[in-house]
Amino acid sequence: MPRVAVLGSTGSVGTQALEVIRRHRDRYEVVALAAGRNVELLAAQAAEFGVDPTRARSCLDDPDALAALAADPDVDVVLNAVVGFAGLPATLGALEAGKRLGLANKESLIAAGPVVRAARTRGGGEIVPVDSEHSALYQALRAGSRPEVSRLWLTASGGPFRGRTRSELEHVAVEDALKHPTWDMGAKITIDSSTLMNKGLEVIEAHELFDVDFDHVDVVVHPQSVIHGMVEFSDGAVIAQLSMPDMRLPIGLALGAPDRLDEAFGAIDWATLGSLTFEAPDREAFPALDLAYRAGRAGGGAPAALSAANEVAVAAFLDRRIPWLAIADVLADALEVQTGNVRDVADVLAVDRAARERARRVVARIEESPVGEQLGTRSPAA
Ligand code: MG
Repeated sequence: MPRVAVLGSTGSVGTQALEVIRRHRDRYEVVALAAGRNVELLAAQAAEFGVDPTRARSCLDDPDALAALAADPDVDVVLNAVVGFAGLPATLGALEAGKRLGLANKESLIAAGPVVRAARTRGGGEIVPVDSEHSALYQALRAGSRPEVSRLWLTASGGPFRGRTRSELEHVAVEDALKHPTWDMGAKITIDSSTLMNKGLEVIEAHELFDVDFDHVDVVVHPQSVIHGMVEFSDGAVIAQLSMPDMRLPIGLALGAPDRLDEAFGAIDWATLGSLTFEAPDREAFPALDLAYRAGRAGGGAPAALSAANEVAVAAFLDRRIPWLAIADVLADALEVQTGNVRDVADVLAVDRAARERARRVVARIEESPVGEQLGTRSPAA
């Protein structure tokens, strides 16, 4: 029976992971939990799953403690559901120790791609993606050999602002951005979905996970969120993974891969499903997508700088300090951060710190500027 560490256990993915395990206690044992400030829920989870108090820790801001939990010899599977860059120590700890890593924390892979790759090679750990799109690709890739793969397709719901023009997006409120049409997720990723930054980060994530270059990773808007990802093969065949939006499916697969759970999450009722539609993303209204491609192609520390600046920008938007359109301005500025090679965690931390400082200055400038200048008039593509 695999022994599981759920890191980020009180968040959206963490609580859903524990729900999957609660329903399949004959298959998994929870032996470690990590959370942030929600210590009451953490204590309740530890009591319910019989986790030793020394391994149920409020330690998301303590990189050493987080890495130690992930590398614990009594843990077989690490589910990393920590939000943001704070999840990096768990990713590295698990991979260095040769564990199976169910990865919901995309930021660690994006910010520290070269470091994570080295840790994976050194420790022999395995990553199974929890992100629904990448779980779909992981599943669809089983249909052919690697040389037969010609293109990866990530689907995007388009978020709450799909179909709006740039000028219609000038005055959107935090409440509007938090209303995701198909997925119920945490605040940070929901804002990322509204800007398409989430999809941009997922393009980089796909590149890192599956070693496919950026010219062969594409995004299509699919508002129903039923197709989660598609792999196009050399003979033109496209293999897609479909299910109703339910994170418990990819979580369950990541915990037990390559085996599937014997409980259907997100089963489709074909008689009432109706139509599935597709459209190209609006790259002008949602410039974050192309900024992510640019950062990914630049490589080195560029994705780390972009992701760090995004965390600062999203927090500032949620605090109502900057308008929604200005998030992309902060991101565009982050591409100017001078980053060299990223060989180790210290390099990643240096880029992360520099990008956050720079992003905070940009946020402060936007805050101080007259309202008319706040509203994203600067073209990020310039
Ligand atoms: Mg996703």
